[in-house]
Amino acid sequence: NPIIELRDVSFSYGEGARAALDHVSLSISEGDFVGVIGPSGAGKSTLAAVMSGAIPHHFTGQLYGATLIDGKDTCEVTLTDISRVVGSVLQDIDAQMVASVVEDEMLFGLENFGVPHDQIEERINQTLATVGISDLREREIATLSGGQKQKVAIAAILALAPRVLVLDEPTAALDPASSTLVFETLRKVNELAGITIVVIEQKVALLSKYCGRVLVMNEGTLAFDGEPHEVFSHA
Ligand code: ADP
Ligand code: ADP
Repeated sequence: NPIIELRDVSFSYGEGARAALDHVSLSISEGDFVGVIGPSGAGKSTLAAVMSGAIPHHFTGQLYGATLIDGKDTCEVTLTDISRVVGSVLQDIDAQMVASVVEDEMLFGLENFGVPHDQIEERINQTLATVGISDLREREIATLSGGQKQKVAIAAILALAPRVLVLDEPTAALDPASSTLVFETLRKVNELAGITIVVIEQKVALLSKYCGRVLVMNEGTLAFDGEPHEVFSHA
């Protein structure tokens, strides 16, 4: 069963704007580790927004086709329902995070989701351990490095127990070593917890090493969809 399915999806942000997504069809199975690559303006962030249910709920524009998340049309369910299936880490994590201390950032989401108080402590401990940042629990987020912040953003979403994690260029601001550590974390989450990963990433080496499948976006279309070695052999 696909966890995310796009059926001939097109989207433009406004009247007369060119299509940010242009007849995109694809299906993602539970457990997949999918990378998305393509030039600036290709529609990668828009695709991530569709897959996280932010379109149609947060963005206005002209939407055609259908997106199904866990079998339900995103136009017919609330963003809250969608967010219990898909967790997303946006490009601007500073704007996404709301608290100043790491554990408060995690607490905020868990309380919002109505997780019972006697389960919250365990959930925070377990997630911090999985992401490998138990030592950062009481740190001020503002004092962390880019790589540490990325991991906190991932942990805060993971604590909410989504089945899919969508990430928009988590390594954009990171050095190569930190970028690899973020992908190692994603691999762990994928393999140990079975969480489906969809990650926008520009570094071919990371996509080749970690992703089972790569989507190449170009001018709003899905230009290629296959295993990394198939995609990059004729790049
Ligand atoms: P990237 O290429 O890294 O995805 P962009 O520069 O395309 O980043 O977009 C950065 C932010 O600006 C995104 O939040 C996007 O939604 C917004 N944005 C991009 N293009 C436009 C536009 N033409 N009008 C308004 N907002 C835009
Ligand atoms: P990418 O992530 O591959 O850089 P985007 O999905 O951000 O591509 O952008 C695809 C197209 O949609 C671009 O032409 C961009 O300018 C436009 N766009 C993106 N976000 C917005 C927005 N919030 N408002 C208007 N246009 C946007």
